[in-house]
Amino acid sequence: MTTHIRISEVGPRDGLQSISRVMSTDAKKAWIAAEAAAGVTEIEVGSFVPPSLLPQMADTAEIVAFAKTLPGLDVAVLVPNLKGAERAIKAGAHKMSIPFSMSESHSIRNVRKDHAAMVEQIAAIAAMVAALPEGQRPHFEVGLSTAFGCTIEGPIPDDQIVRLAEQAIAAGAAEVCLSDTTGYANPAQVRRLVRAVKAAVGADRLNTLHLHNTRGLGLANVVAGLEEGITTFDSSMGGLGGCPFAPGASGNIVTEDLVFMLEAMGLHTGIDIARLGDVRQIIADALPGEPLYGFVPDAGVPLGFERVAA
Ligand code: ZN
Repeated sequence: MTTHIRISEVGPRDGLQSISRVMSTDAKKAWIAAEAAAGVTEIEVGSFVPPSLLPQMADTAEIVAFAKTLPGLDVAVLVPNLKGAERAIKAGAHKMSIPFSMSESHSIRNVRKDHAAMVEQIAAIAAMVAALPEGQRPHFEVGLSTAFGCTIEGPIPDDQIVRLAEQAIAAGAAEVCLSDTTGYANPAQVRRLVRAVKAAVGADRLNTLHLHNTRGLGLANVVAGLEEGITTFDSSMGGLGGCPFAPGASGNIVTEDLVFMLEAMGLHTGIDIARLGDVRQIIADALPGEPLYGFVPDAGVPLGFERVAA
């Protein structure tokens, strides 16, 4: 196991886009600044989707500009297509991810593109990145969404995921990430799929898992990923966002619980868990009544747990 594990906070994107209320730009900035100050080194701050589709993300360019002023923070965004990637590059994001649904029916329903059209889109974005001067190229990642199952198609065959991961890398993506968009994953499946994709595209081309805690298996899936050499995990403060497919269920895995588990296991996140409490308070104040999840925020850390000094 690697000793340093990176946590990529995705709440400002995945969490906020999943709730109908719009968080104010000032509250987003306060959240991101406080979380960076707590030691989080990568935050997905928004999404370059048309504001008519997701008004929650309308201020993404302004948020990127602000986040870039925070020392030591890698500023990530989600881009749905080439147009979004153009906006991400113009804004100066350090990293951009495009979701590539492993379920072709889900892809057609969501972005009206079949797999071949998506691979073309990935190639076009990769070419645009490659044409930029060195030092101005964002890290370009492809998120293999619905990799652990789809609400339309059910299970997706492993060999289909492996083949599409290979196509994404061949099209010029720097990295792929396995995403449990629907919260279907279990630890045995995580182990099997991480191993298969790493073997196909190269171990250094798959470092990240994007997990949800819809069915309570989020942290178990993290441990399975750790054992297969995964070094970055996406999570969201308070598991913000819920799941549109499972009313009442939490969203992404909870950042607070994830930090606690990793630190308790002797791995290093560089994150001061006590200061995450301040971040949680900012979110609770900005979105009164919005459910925030997590066990550690309620129970506190156990006696003898040594938190990271910031
Ligand atoms: Zn997600």
